[in-house]
Amino acid sequence: MSNIRIIDTHCHLDFNELKPRLDEVIKDAKINNVTDMVTISTNLSRIDTIKEISEQYKEVFFTVGVHPNEAHKDKQYDDYYFMENYSNHEKCVGIGEGGLDYFYNMDYKKLQKRSLEVQINVARSTNLPMIIHSRDADNDMIEILKSEYKNGPFRAILHCFSSGEDLAYCGLDLDFFISFSGILTFSSAKNIQKIAKNIPLSKILVETDSPYLAPSPVRGTVNEPKNCLHTSQFLSKLRNVNFFDLSETLYNNSLTIYNKIKLWNNK
Ligand SMILES: [Zn+2]
Repeated sequence: MSNIRIIDTHCHLDFNELKPRLDEVIKDAKINNVTDMVTISTNLSRIDTIKEISEQYKEVFFTVGVHPNEAHKDKQYDDYYFMENYSNHEKCVGIGEGGLDYFYNMDYKKLQKRSLEVQINVARSTNLPMIIHSRDADNDMIEILKSEYKNGPFRAILHCFSSGEDLAYCGLDLDFFISFSGILTFSSAKNIQKIAKNIPLSKILVETDSPYLAPSPVRGTVNEPKNCLHTSQFLSKLRNVNFFDLSETLYNNSLTIYNKIKLWNNK
C-alpha cells in the first residue's frame, strides 16, 4: 500500500506511553502509511515539550491550547496572548484541544467555558483551526459554538467525535470538520457509525487520539499513530468507497483544515 497517505490529525506524543520510544512510534507510523501527525496540546506547562518533538521529527506538527480536564490545573488556561504568540511557530498548526467535559469535571464548568472561549478567540484571530473536545456536554457546546460563530467565523474540528447527531449537524452548518477516532470501529458505536456513514466525505477526518482508544482489531493495546490505518480501512468499508480514493480524500481534507502542514510540505 505504498501509495496510501494518511495524516493522524490528533495524537498525544508527549504522553508517557509514547514519548520514551518516539523513534519507533514514528517509524511504525510511516511503515503503516501515516505520513504526518499532529500532536495536540493539553496543558500549557507541557507546550515546550511538544514543540520540541515537532522540531525533532519533520513528520510531527503541534497545536497550542488547554484541554477542558486540565483547565483547572493550568494557570495559563485563559492566557490569550501566550497562545496567540506561541501559534506563530512554523509547525504550530492549530489551537486546542479546548472544550467541555462534563463526564470527568462537572465542578469546573465555568472555567472550562472561559478557557474554550479564549481559545476560540485565538483561533479566530490566527485563522488556525480550533480543536474541540466535547464529552457529555452537547447542549452547552452547541450554544457556545453558535454564539461564538456569530461573533465572527472561525474554523474548527469536532475531534474524537462521540456526541449525538445534533452536535454533528451543528458543526457541519458552521462548516467544521468532524474527526473520527478508533471509537468508530467499536461494535457498540452504532450511532457514531451512522453519522460517519451519512455526513459529507469532504468534512471527515481520522485520528487516533493515541495513546488512548486503539481501534479494532488492536483494541485494548496502547494506541499509536500507525493505527490510523485501521480506522481509515473501517471507514472505507462503512462508506463503501475504494480505500485509495477514501484515503486521498481524507488526506486532502486534513491539509485543507491544517493548511500550515501544506505550506510546510511545499517548502
Ligand atoms: Zn486528545
